[in-house]
Amino acid sequence: MNLIFLGAPGAGKGTASKKLSEIIGIPHISTGDIFRANISGGTELGRLAEQYISKGHLVPDDVTIGMVKARLSEPDCSKGFILDGFPRTLNQAEALDSFLTETGRKIDRVIDIVLSESTLVDRLAYRRVCIGCKLSYNLKSHNITDNLCPVCGSSLMMRDDDKPEVIAARLVAYHKDTEPLIDYYVRTRKLVRVNSEEKIADTFANILAALEIKGMKQ
Ligand code: ADP
Ligand code: ZN
Repeated sequence: MNLIFLGAPGAGKGTASKKLSEIIGIPHISTGDIFRANISGGTELGRLAEQYISKGHLVPDDVTIGMVKARLSEPDCSKGFILDGFPRTLNQAEALDSFLTETGRKIDRVIDIVLSESTLVDRLAYRRVCIGCKLSYNLKSHNITDNLCPVCGSSLMMRDDDKPEVIAARLVAYHKDTEPLIDYYVRTRKLVRVNSEEKIADTFANILAALEIKGMKQ
């Protein structure tokens, strides 16, 4: 199964797509995670990406598309993949479609995680990432008061791009560049919408249900 997770920053794409990847045993590919790993590793790609990410802007298409094509060419993707945070522009979506056609594949489903702007902003403000195991938490919903990871005990940090001024720029980029992709995938009848206003567990149950129902129709 080849899947895409769409949705605004803070919608919960990362949490849901990682969990799905564990359950169905196909690789989770997050462009944001790959960029962040390159930034911590001090690579050339990391240095370039950081200039955009720190301002809440998108990394240029040619860089991002090349990086994803390379990842999708690795052998573990032959059994399927879950893309989290890619495509984010129409140009990326078209490049992905051509690349998949060239390699005899196609996208099966696109899951759009939907929630209100006020909930998004709230979620991003309370999001913390573990510096040890890299899991993401919401301080409010996980009831964390000591700023320590409930799984490994390491400290939790705020992502630099979750600061309020950067959040605003990310939402602008989302509305301008990424929202048009919803229509793109509606036209190809691949889009499944899942409400994420509720608890994480409910969102995940909705995703599983949506995939199963739509899968049975085909
Ligand atoms: P979120 O979905 O919460 O915004 P991500 O981890 O997916 O976070 O992305 C973090 C940042 O990495 C984005 O704000 C953007 O700067 C960059 N980025 C990630 N994916 C892409 C992409 N497909 N195209 C361009 N830039 C990207
Ligand atoms: Zn941890």
